[in-house]
Amino acid sequence: MGDLKSKENNSPEESGEEILLQHVLDGNSEVQLLKGLLSRARSELGMTRHIVANQTDAIIYIDTAQRIVYANSVFCNLVGYELPDLEKTMFDQFFMLHGRGPGLKALLKTVANQGKWNGEVLFRQGDKDQSPLNMSIIFNGSEDHQHEKCGFVCQISAEDIIPLTQTTQSSSPKITYDSLTGLPDRPSCLQYLAFCLKQARENDGGVAVLYIDLDQFKRVNNIRGPSFGDELLCEISSILLQCGKQCGADFVARLSGDEFVIILAPLVKPEMAKELSDRILKQFQHPIAIKSRDIFIKLSIGISLYPEDSDNQPGLLHNAETAMEMAKTAGGNSSYRWHSKMDAAANQNLDLESDLFEAVKNSDLVNNYQPQINIKTGAIVGMEALARWNHPEHGFISPEIFIPVAEDVGLIDRLSFGLIELACRHGRQWHDVGIKGFTMAVNISGRMLQQADLFEKIMDILRKTGFPPTSLELELTESALIESFDNTIHLINQCKEEGIKMALDDFGTGYSSLSYLQRFAVDKLKIDRAFVMGVTTSHNDAAITLAIIAMAKQLNFKVLAEGVETEAQLSFLKENGCDVVQGFLISKPITAEEMKNALIHDSCLAIRQRRAINKFYSMKASKLPAHHLKPTAKKGFSPIRKR
Ligand code: C2E
Ligand code: CA
Ligand code: CA
Repeated sequence: MGDLKSKENNSPEESGEEILLQHVLDGNSEVQLLKGLLSRARSELGMTRHIVANQTDAIIYIDTAQRIVYANSVFCNLVGYELPDLEKTMFDQFFMLHGRGPGLKALLKTVANQGKWNGEVLFRQGDKDQSPLNMSIIFNGSEDHQHEKCGFVCQISAEDIIPLTQTTQSSSPKITYDSLTGLPDRPSCLQYLAFCLKQARENDGGVAVLYIDLDQFKRVNNIRGPSFGDELLCEISSILLQCGKQCGADFVARLSGDEFVIILAPLVKPEMAKELSDRILKQFQHPIAIKSRDIFIKLSIGISLYPEDSDNQPGLLHNAETAMEMAKTAGGNSSYRWHSKMDAAANQNLDLESDLFEAVKNSDLVNNYQPQINIKTGAIVGMEALARWNHPEHGFISPEIFIPVAEDVGLIDRLSFGLIELACRHGRQWHDVGIKGFTMAVNISGRMLQQADLFEKIMDILRKTGFPPTSLELELTESALIESFDNTIHLINQCKEEGIKMALDDFGTGYSSLSYLQRFAVDKLKIDRAFVMGVTTSHNDAAITLAIIAMAKQLNFKVLAEGVETEAQLSFLKENGCDVVQGFLISKPITAEEMKNALIHDSCLAIRQRRAINKFYSMKASKLPAHHLKPTAKKGFSPIRKR
C-alpha cells in the first residue's frame, strides 16, 4: 500500500483511494488534519495517495450497501486482513451501534441526508468483546444518492486505535468460540481464513474452504425439540473435527445454526479437499445416537480453493457457499466443487419467484397422487394430492422448496386453489367411470387457513367440478391450526356440515395434546413419517406411535401412518391397530393417469374377488355351516408400480 502509484493504474483499491481523495479534497471539516496535508499536496497526487495510505488514523471507505471498498493499512492491521480480503466484506462485520436503537443501516441513511456524523460505535472483536470507538462518518456523493460512487468515509482516530492494536495484533488471529459447540465462531472463521490466505500468498501455498450445511436440520429441530437439536449439533461438531483431523484440517468453525466451515491450509494438493468431503459424507452414512435414538443426518458440502476459485476471503467463502447450495438443490447428501457456471445458476435460482409466477399463470404445476391403503384389506381407500413442478430448465423442483416461495410472494392462493380444483376434477372423472369409494386429500397451508373465505372458495370448487364434498379431505398441520385457532374451529364446523373430511397432517410434530384434539373434531390423524421411520428401531418412536394410535381410538379418529417404507414397519402398524397407510412401500406419488389405472386395477380386483366369493357362496352355501362362509380378505400388498 505504501507504494506510489501512477494515475493510469485502475486497480480497485486505487479507485477507493481516489474516491476518498476526492472527498478529502472537497474539504470536509471532520478531516481537517488530513485536509491540511492533502491540500498542500493537491498538485502532487501520487504523494497524497501515499499520505492517505499511511495515515495514523484508520480510514475506511464503504459503499451505500455497506460493503468495504477501501481501507488503509491502519485498519487492515487492526483487523488482521489484507485489503483484497476486506473488499466487499460488510462494514457491520466490524462495527455496531450501542444498545437497541436503530442499527447502522438507519444511521447511514441519516448520514446520507445530513452529510456527516460523529459518535461512538462498538468495534467487534470476536463475539463478546466490543470496544467503544469514536468514529466520524462523512457522506460522499450526489444528492439523489444514486451515483454509483456514492459512499461513506469512516475515520477512527489514532488514539482510539493504538490500545486496540495492542490487543488484536499478534502473529495469528485471536480466536473466539461458539458457546454451544465450542467451535470457533463466524468472526474467528473470517479472521482465520484471512490469516491463512496471507500465509498462502507469502508461501505460494493453497487453501481449501469446505462449506457444510445439514439437510433438513430445521425439520429435526422442530420435531425433536431444541435440546435434541443442540445435542445433535455438538455431536456433528465432534464428527467434523475428527474427520478434519484425519485429513490434516484442524480448523472447524460453526458459522451459524447448522452451517459449518472447515479450512484446510496449507493445501498441498487440491484433491485433499475432495478426500475430506468424501470422508465426511461416508462418516454420515452411519446413524448418530442422540438421547438413545439413532438418527440419520445427511449434509451438503461446497468446496472452493485458493488460488483457483478466488484469491480473497469473501470470494472463497461465497463460492463455497454457492457450491453447497448447488449440492443441496441437487438433492443434498453430496459435495460440489465451485465452478464459475454456478454463479449463473445461483442467479437463476433467484428467478424462481418469477418462474413460479409464470408456472402458476400457465397452469404448469400438476398433482401427483399417493395412494392410501386400508391396512387390513390392502384396498385403495384414498389418496393425497401432492404438487409437482417440472421446471423447464432446472427439472423437478420439490414442493418443499416452492410452496414456501409461493407463500412468501403471495402466490399460494392461486397455486393451491388451482391444484385443489385439478384434484377435484380428476376425482370427478374417476367417479364418472365408476370408480368410487376413495377420499381425495389435499394440503391446506398455514397461510390459506388465515383466510376468512377459505370455506367458500372450496365449496365453489366442489360446485364447479361436481366432486362430492364427502369425498374431499383437507389436511391441516397442527402448527397451522394452532396459529389460526378460531378460524380453524369455524372452518372445521362448516366443513363438518357439508361432509368434508378433516385430517391432521404431520401429527406428533407439534402440540399433540388431548385437550385441543377434543375441540378439533377432525376425522383422521396422520402420524408423521419421522416416527413411522423409527417404529422398528427406536423405543421412543414406537412408544409415540402407539400413544398416537391409542389417543386416536379414544377420540374416535381414524389413524393413518405416513412414509411407510418397510414390511417391518407395516407389520408393526398392522399389529397395533393403525387403520390406513401411505408410503413408498405401497407406492410413490404417481401421475393422474397412473392413479386412475391403479384404481381401475384395484376395483377390478375387488370385482373379481366378489365374483369368486359369490361363486363360493353358491357352491358351498347348502353344504357348510354359516360361520364358515366369511369371505377371505385380500392378503399382503403388491406395491403399485408405474405402468
Ligand atoms: P406432506 O404433506 O407430509 O406430504 C408427504 C410427503 O412425504 C410427500 O413429499 C411424499 O412424497 C413424501 N413421502 C411419501 N411417502 C414417503 C416415504 O415412504 N418415504 C419418504 N421419505 N417420503 C415419503 P412431497 O411430495 O415432496 O411433499 C412435501 C411437502 O410439501 C408435503 O408434505 C406438503 O407439506 C407440501 N405440499 C405438497 N404439495 C402441496 C400442495 O399442493 N399444497 C400445499 N400447501 N403443500 C403441499
Ligand atoms: Ca400432507
Ligand atoms: Ca405429512
